[in-house]
Amino acid sequence: MSEERPLVRFENVQKSYDGEILVVKDFNLDVAKGEFVTMLGPSGSGKTTCLMMLAGFEPTTNGTIYLKDKPINNVPPHKRGIGMVFQHMALMPHRSVRDNVAYPLEIRKISKSKRWAISDHALGLVDLTGYEDRLPKELSGGMQQRVGIARALASDPEILLMDEPFSALDPLIRLQLQDQFKALVAQLKKTTLFITHDLDEAIRIGHRIAIMKDGVIVQIGTPEDIVMNPVDDYVREFVQGISKLKLVKAHSIMEPIDSHPSPLDGAPRADESADLDQLIDLAVGTDQPVVITKGGVDVGVVTKPRLLRGIQGGKND
Ligand code: ADP
Repeated sequence: MSEERPLVRFENVQKSYDGEILVVKDFNLDVAKGEFVTMLGPSGSGKTTCLMMLAGFEPTTNGTIYLKDKPINNVPPHKRGIGMVFQHMALMPHRSVRDNVAYPLEIRKISKSKRWAISDHALGLVDLTGYEDRLPKELSGGMQQRVGIARALASDPEILLMDEPFSALDPLIRLQLQDQFKALVAQLKKTTLFITHDLDEAIRIGHRIAIMKDGVIVQIGTPEDIVMNPVDDYVREFVQGISKLKLVKAHSIMEPIDSHPSPLDGAPRADESADLDQLIDLAVGTDQPVVITKGGVDVGVVTKPRLLRGIQGGKND
């Protein structure tokens, strides 16, 4: 648990739709303000249900959800400060892009001039300036998803909940949107929970990944934590095919500097945040180990066996 109080807390949350089977069994999660957490897991593992409970569209069966330390079990959805984006945004076909984005504001009886100004601003954030008067069908799939994101942003929510928002898109468009969206939420300082079934996507955009199975989180951590230290075979299988070259950093594979007695004066040096790819480049040009520095001070050593183990993943002995 971080020292700063979390923005969102799920505490022992359970959910049963039929009064019997728990589809969310014991869900505990703290999300810090500004954090980007991806939820990964097979279909039916309870990911959407958790977001629906946080958004207030489904009641919890047991447990408590907190926003800034206040229980919100009885707070209606529109007072939770949450925006949602789904895989299929169901834009209204006969309304312009501008009016689609402005629709939630219309429901809240915000004047036309104000809601159009907000809508145009939100469309600018997702790079759709110039498309305000188009109809949704005149836009590509990727652009329609961006309209959906603009609609979620229009009410300036503190938290964004994304349920496989890019899963239906072509791989290339998907990569572009991932990068664009990651930069946008960082710029706007939105706290984000993002469901995906794609590990590459989770690694690419999330600060932390929560891996779910059968209604519980089996492991949560940074992408590097999870890839280097999977807690069980289930997670190990999940992360098996991932290239560690850009993901794993020197600090997680190095040995302490004092464990290496020989003089290292001529050895190449790299910061502790250097990735395996960079360490390989340094290691091929020398017989010496690579010395790892932190703030310019030598703190560790990566020998060739260590480096090879790091590439292999997880095994440091
Ligand atoms: P995920 O998002 O991981 O695919 P869900 O939260 O959608 O998982 O579903 C978890 C379980 O809850 C599934 O078995 C699903 O069939 C069931 N479920 C989801 N929504 C409902 C609902 N509205 N009524 C009854 N059962 C539901």
